[in-house]
Amino acid sequence: MTCTYNSLMKKLAEDPKFIPGIYNYCDRWCERCAFTSRCMNYALSEDDFDNPQSQDISNKAFWDKLHEIFKVTLEMVKETAEEMGIDLNSIDYEEAAKQEEWVHETVKKQLYCRAAMKYIKMVNDWFDSNKGLLEDKADELQTLAEAGIPDTRPDYEAVKIQDCLEVIRWYQHQIYIKLCRAASGMIRGESAFAEAPADKLEDLKHFPEDANGSAKVAIIGIERSIAAWGGLLNQFPQQEHSILELLVNLKRLLRQVESVFPDARAFLRVGFDTTTTNT
Ligand code: SF4
Repeated sequence: MTCTYNSLMKKLAEDPKFIPGIYNYCDRWCERCAFTSRCMNYALSEDDFDNPQSQDISNKAFWDKLHEIFKVTLEMVKETAEEMGIDLNSIDYEEAAKQEEWVHETVKKQLYCRAAMKYIKMVNDWFDSNKGLLEDKADELQTLAEAGIPDTRPDYEAVKIQDCLEVIRWYQHQIYIKLCRAASGMIRGESAFAEAPADKLEDLKHFPEDANGSAKVAIIGIERSIAAWGGLLNQFPQQEHSILELLVNLKRLLRQVESVFPDARAFLRVGFDTTTTNT
């Protein structure tokens, strides 16, 4: 079974239609992605869980498949470690765990991570307080649609509202997660640069690159969320105060991220920000 999965991965990796690494800095919203046909990750996930049996989390097939992926991933980690000259057996795991804990704690203390966490809570509070408002609006649009009043487009309005809500919910947690990853890349990079000999500095450039790539995905999420809240403001002007408060927080967060990661916007996400010739 492992062999089958392994060979499928190798076969897919060699297929020129896939853009290598496109999934590293995307927002994982495959349903809305224009690159599904060129993403190996998407092709694999379709193959992995594409039948009702394997989608059932309580089904043995699901866990067998997950175990299979785990084994293949472990093999890939070993191969990569060998290529990078890392002896996995020589790692002091206790020390590494302490270092991880320190990175984790430091990440959580970053102002922008705290602000992103605060935003998650604000969004939850907003939805909790406005459940009735959203339901009333849905009823109102439904009534208008049934009445068939000329020159009104309640269906169009409903789609616009639904879009805004989906965008807000999609990025609500992702902004925080991506900012934590960006912070972690920056923190790890800083300590690695501080300890590395001069001739090894070039090998460490992936740290700031990864931090900028993750920060860029967070920036995109923040900007799309700002636009979505703007759309909701148009629909629910009576909620001006609470929506403006959210917008102010998002704008402030955006400024913080841009100042900590000034090169993030210029980061080129393969496929999304670059032209590719393979088809
Ligand atoms: S690149 Fe697109 S298809 Fe691939 S994982 Fe990201 S969102 Fe999904």
